[in-house]
Amino acid sequence: MEVTTLLADPRVISLETIRSSEKSLTLAVRVVRSTAQCPRCDRASERVHSRYIRRVADLPWLGVAVRLELQARRFFCTNTLCRQDIFCERLPSVVARYARRTARLNDALTYIGFIIGGEAGARIARELGMTTSPDTLIRRIRQSATPEAPIPRVLGIDDWAKRKGQTYGTILVDLARHRPIDLLPDREAATLAAWLTAHPGIEVVSRDRFRAYKEGIARGAPTAIQVADRWHLLKNMTEALERWLNRQRPVIQQAAKDATASQEVVIEESVATHALHAPVTPQLQRSMEQQATRLSRFQEVKELYRQGATIRGIAAKFRMHRRTVRLLLNADECPKRAPPRRRRNKIAAYLPYLKQRWAEGCHNASELWREIKAQGFAGCESAVRHFIAEWRLNVEPELRRKRHLSSGAPIRRVTIPGARSVTWLLLHDESKLNDQQRAFLTQFCEQQPEVIIAQKLVRRFQHLVSRRDVAAFDEWLTEAKNSKLPELVNFAAGLAGDAAVRAALTTKWSNGQVEGQVNRLKMIKRQMFGRANFDLLRQRVLHSG
Ligand SMILES: [Zn+2]
Repeated sequence: MEVTTLLADPRVISLETIRSSEKSLTLAVRVVRSTAQCPRCDRASERVHSRYIRRVADLPWLGVAVRLELQARRFFCTNTLCRQDIFCERLPSVVARYARRTARLNDALTYIGFIIGGEAGARIARELGMTTSPDTLIRRIRQSATPEAPIPRVLGIDDWAKRKGQTYGTILVDLARHRPIDLLPDREAATLAAWLTAHPGIEVVSRDRFRAYKEGIARGAPTAIQVADRWHLLKNMTEALERWLNRQRPVIQQAAKDATASQEVVIEESVATHALHAPVTPQLQRSMEQQATRLSRFQEVKELYRQGATIRGIAAKFRMHRRTVRLLLNADECPKRAPPRRRRNKIAAYLPYLKQRWAEGCHNASELWREIKAQGFAGCESAVRHFIAEWRLNVEPELRRKRHLSSGAPIRRVTIPGARSVTWLLLHDESKLNDQQRAFLTQFCEQQPEVIIAQKLVRRFQHLVSRRDVAAFDEWLTEAKNSKLPELVNFAAGLAGDAAVRAALTTKWSNGQVEGQVNRLKMIKRQMFGRANFDLLRQRVLHSG
C-alpha cells in the first residue's frame, strides 16, 4: 500500500472544493477527462447523457473521516453497431463500480485486517477515522486472492490443533523458501493426496511418522522421497522407553523406597515433574495405578496405529469401543478420568469453607469433616479425604518441612518418580544428577538390570540420529531387535519398515522450521478469538508468511 497523493488518482480526478464539518471533510471532485470508453465496445464517447453525484469514503485525514463527492457522468455510446445506448463512466483506479469506499481505503482496511484481524482491526480503523466493522474486514480478508506460491521442491508437513486435542489440520511449508504455502482442514490421507496431485513436481517431503501422511504422500506424490522428521524420531524413541518404564512401575516404586531408606535425610524435593508425594492412601495408590495403566494403553494404541493397525483391530485387541480408540488417537495427552460427579456435587457447597480452613492451616481430614458435618454436610469422611489428598500434593515442600519440624519427629517421605521422570533421569548427563537421583538409579539398575540395555539403546539412537550415521543405524536395529524389550523391539521394527527413516539419516531436510510456522499460526488463531474459521485462518497465515 502506497499513498503519496491527496487525491486517489490525480490523473483521473481533480479537486473542486473542500468543505469541512466537525467530524468530516468533504472533497468535491470531478473527472478530468472529457471522454469515456464504452464498456461494451471500447469506443470513446464525448456525448454526455447526464450527471450524478457519487458519495464514497476515502482515506481519513489525520483521524478525520474524508468523503469524496464525485461528479460522475453517463455517456451515450456513439457506436451505432453497439447494443449499449447509455453507460456510466468507470474509474477503477479511484473507486470500483457500486463501491462505497475508494479502492485505496479498501486496500488499507484489508491490510489492517490481515495484520491484526477483524475485531482489533475494526477498533483501530475507527480510531483512525475509517468507519468499518469487524465483518467488513473479515469479508475483505476472505475476498482477497490467495497468494500464488510456486510449487516447492521440498515440502514439510505437520499437524496443528484446531481445537486442542480434538481436531487437527495440516500445515504445508516450503522448506527451501521458509514459507507456509497451504493449510489443509484435516489430517486425512485423502486430503493430502488430493493436494499433492494438484501440485505435481515435489521431490522431497519431510513428515512425522503419522501414518495418514505416509499414505497420503504415497498416493499423491509417489515419486517424492519421504523423509521422517528427525525430531519426531527422537520423540518416538523416548516414548517407547517411557512405555517400557510404565510397565516397570512396581520396580520403580521399590527402588525409590530402598533409595530413600539408604539415606539419612528426608526427601522433600521432587526429582520429577510427575512425582507424587506420600502419604499415599490406598485409594490414591489405586487411582495412580489406574492412571498408569490408562497411560500405557493410550501410548500403545497410538504406537499400534502408527505401525499400521486398523481402528477396528485396536478396538478388538483392547476390548474398547471404536469411538474410544478414535478419541485416544486424536488426543494429545492421555485423557484423565473425570472425578466421580456425585461426590463432587455433594461436597461442592462446602468447598469454599474447606479451602478457607485449609489456608488457615487445618489440614486434618477428620477434623474438617466434623466441621462441615456440623454445618449439614451429608457425605462421609472419605469424600473430604479425597479432596484433601489432592490439595496435599500441592503443598509447598518448604511448608511441609516446617510443619514436620514443629510437630516433632520427621516422617520419612518417598518420592516415586513417574515414567517420564525416569526417562529424563536415564537420558540426562549423569554427572549432573544429585545424590538422591543417583541413589535411585543405582537401586533401579540393580533390581531391573534390563534398564541398562534400554538406556544404552536410546542413547545410541539419539547419538546416531544427531550425527546422521546410517552405518550405525543398521547395527543399532539388529541390537534393538535382539534386546528382548518388547517396546524397543516394536519401535525398531517400525523404523525398519519405514524407508523415510533411512532417508532422515541421509538428507539434510528436517521439519525444524515447521514448528515455528505452527507457532505463528497459533498466534494468529488466538487473535481471531471465536472467528477462527478455517478459510479465514488460511488466508491470514498464507498472507502473513
Ligand atoms: Zn458501445
